[in-house]
Amino acid sequence: MAGEDVTKLATMAKLKAGRLGRELTDACLQYWGGMGFTNETPVSRAYRDSRLTSIGGGADEVMLMVLCKMMGTLPGSIKV
Ligand SMILES: Cc1cc2nc3c(=O)[nH]c(=O)nc-3n(C[C@H](O)[C@H](O)[C@H](O)COP(=O)(O)OP(=O)(O)OC[C@H]3O[C@@H](n4cnc5c(N)ncnc54)[C@H](O)[C@@H]3O)c2cc1C
Repeated sequence: MAGEDVTKLATMAKLKAGRLGRELTDACLQYWGGMGFTNETPVSRAYRDSRLTSIGGGADEVMLMVLCKMMGTLPGSIKV
């Protein structure tokens, strides 16, 4: 709203949200054990659905590429 470019912050937030979502749901599924693996428990659905954050709208690797570009550290762009 202040007219500033938030691309870098938004990219970092999306990357973090995807990774955290995977870590969190993985821990929840592990806690549930075999039951967590079955379709009868919501944790199984959360485990699968949370994966989309790291894929949809630009995968994690693409977020890393955007960040590298913005920080000038993309391999090949570094002048030696
Ligand atoms: C349920 C669902 C809903 C969706 N809804 C929409 C929607 O409403 N609108 C819309 O426009 N799209 C939608 N999509 C598409 C989504 O945006 C794409 O799936 C996403 O951009 C990833 O592209 P991709 O699936 O072609 O994977 P790819 O781009 O083929 O990626 C596959 C793998 O290759 C890696 N990769 C790709 N490029 C690079 C690179 N340059 N460097 C390093 N690694 C790379 C990725 O990180 C990933 O690990 C949806 C997808 C899903 C699964």
